[in-house]
Amino acid sequence: RAKDDGRSVYRFFESQMDSDARERRLLEVELRDAIGNRELVLYYQPLVSAESEEPVGFEALIRWNHPIRGLVPPVEFIPVAEHSNLIVDIGDWTIEQACMAASTWPEHLTVAVNLSAKHFRRSDITQVVQKALAMSGLAPKRLEIEITEGLLMEDPEEVVAKLGELRALGVSIAMDDFGTGYSSLNYLLKFPFDKIKIDRSFVNASSGDEVARDILKAIASLGRTLKLKITAEGVETREQASFLTEIACDQLQGFFFARPLDPVELPHYLLTRFPGRAEAVTSEAQAR
Ligand code: C2E
Ligand code: MG
Ligand code: MG
Ligand code: MG
Repeated sequence: RAKDDGRSVYRFFESQMDSDARERRLLEVELRDAIGNRELVLYYQPLVSAESEEPVGFEALIRWNHPIRGLVPPVEFIPVAEHSNLIVDIGDWTIEQACMAASTWPEHLTVAVNLSAKHFRRSDITQVVQKALAMSGLAPKRLEIEITEGLLMEDPEEVVAKLGELRALGVSIAMDDFGTGYSSLNYLLKFPFDKIKIDRSFVNASSGDEVARDILKAIASLGRTLKLKITAEGVETREQASFLTEIACDQLQGFFFARPLDPVELPHYLLTRFPGRAEAVTSEAQAR
């Protein structure tokens, strides 16, 4: 009897695996057409200055507006894209789009783009970034590339060299999801980062958890020691925002300030914050 149970559990897993693989293949086929069909969309979430709570820039966050599935979040299709070579096209597209969008914003605002490790490894990323900057006319200092530790684990010499090239262009490099990996501290000393983004799990835990607050304090002071900018992500409450400002984080990002904005919401957001300076943006959005 026990043996039978074991076997049916096994069979369940086996068929589950088949259907997962089938689902992934189907997604991959559909994703291949998504760029051409203009189904990929960038949302933009504001990063605010901790001091003034005014926006200082935006992070580009990709979504797939699927005709039947609806808005597919990146956690569901980025891994599929990485599994195939599609991540290269998608990554190139994202960098181009983000630079073009930012070039229409008020000039002090920056744009951050998430870079997949697979994309980084499989393309000449410096050339891709250079081309996007040239095409959009965006000042390099307004572009920030967000990478995660995963990128640094393989072939660190080559990665350091490429990050150096990007920085030589004037682009900034941020370490995303700081604190979630295995050797975050180790990497901070080895690579030329400009900024760390504290993972939202620490911010989330900080409400009512003294140890989490102490960890946040320690990360913030480490960042200061290394002369890095510190952004905290996933800020959802006033209490969290106040605490993070108190411990001298530079920038805050999270639902408390704004959710990621779609291409229709963004111009309105800019226009309410920067009346006059955002006029060009709105008229351009309306012309589309
Ligand atoms: P990430 O780069 O750490 O982005 C932050 C994620 O946290 C975003 O999820 C954002 O919507 C979410 N978030 C922001 N504020 C809050 C908050 O207050 N509370 C909570 N609960 N969540 C918040 P999203 O857009 O689903 O993106 C998830 C991840 O997918 C990103 O994490 C990034 O790693 C990846 N991703 C997003 N866009 C791209 C892209 O264009 N290219 C690549 N390669 N990866 C991307
Ligand atoms: Mg990010
Ligand atoms: Mg993050
Ligand atoms: Mg994250």
